[in-house]
Amino acid sequence: MATSANPLHLSQDPAPGKILISALELQRRVSELGAQVTADYQGKALVLVGILRGSVMFAADLLRRIDLPVTLDFLAISSYVGRDASGVVRLIKDLDHSITGKHVLLVEDIIDTGLTLNYVLRVLATRGPESLTVCTLLDKPARRLIEQPLVKYVGFHIPDVFVVGYGLDYNQRFRNLPYIGVLQLP
Ligand code: 5GP
Repeated sequence: MATSANPLHLSQDPAPGKILISALELQRRVSELGAQVTADYQGKALVLVGILRGSVMFAADLLRRIDLPVTLDFLAISSYVGRDASGVVRLIKDLDHSITGKHVLLVEDIIDTGLTLNYVLRVLATRGPESLTVCTLLDKPARRLIEQPLVKYVGFHIPDVFVVGYGLDYNQRFRNLPYIGVLQLP
């Protein structure tokens, strides 16, 4: 029986919780990041590596804002179940192309503890890229366990809340929201 106590029941609503970052703010910031990346990598070819599935929208939008010879690849890792961190990260899908000798920009949706990013960066570093830096849409520094010196580009610093939308999910829902909203559980 569906009740209003079930958070997934909210998924029928177009707006689950408070809007933290509007669609317009997202697009403006992604444009700025694209311009910054374009300036920083002038004269170089770039490989954008997105992490499935949360960073799909951000990677696609950022890609369109980068005016360089750029390619796109994805890897997939296991992620959170519900609102809890399992603490276990696994590589589910590897890159399709070699990054050896390439300038790689890893595109993340959100950095929380930093454990996921730490794992992915260790994997990518073993492949011998020419350079390896990170662009994250969201940064939640409150719960950081591992510092991330390779994070050069941050879209927005946000407080310690669970957010959904623009690719970010709660149990696979809400990725389609055009904005970032705070998930509110009853
Ligand atoms: P970390 O390993 O840094 O703690 O967590 C990174 C991953 O946890 C993200 O890639 C994302 O999948 C998930 N995550 C962390 N915080 C949030 C959040 O507020 N909302 C959603 N949807 N996912 C989150």
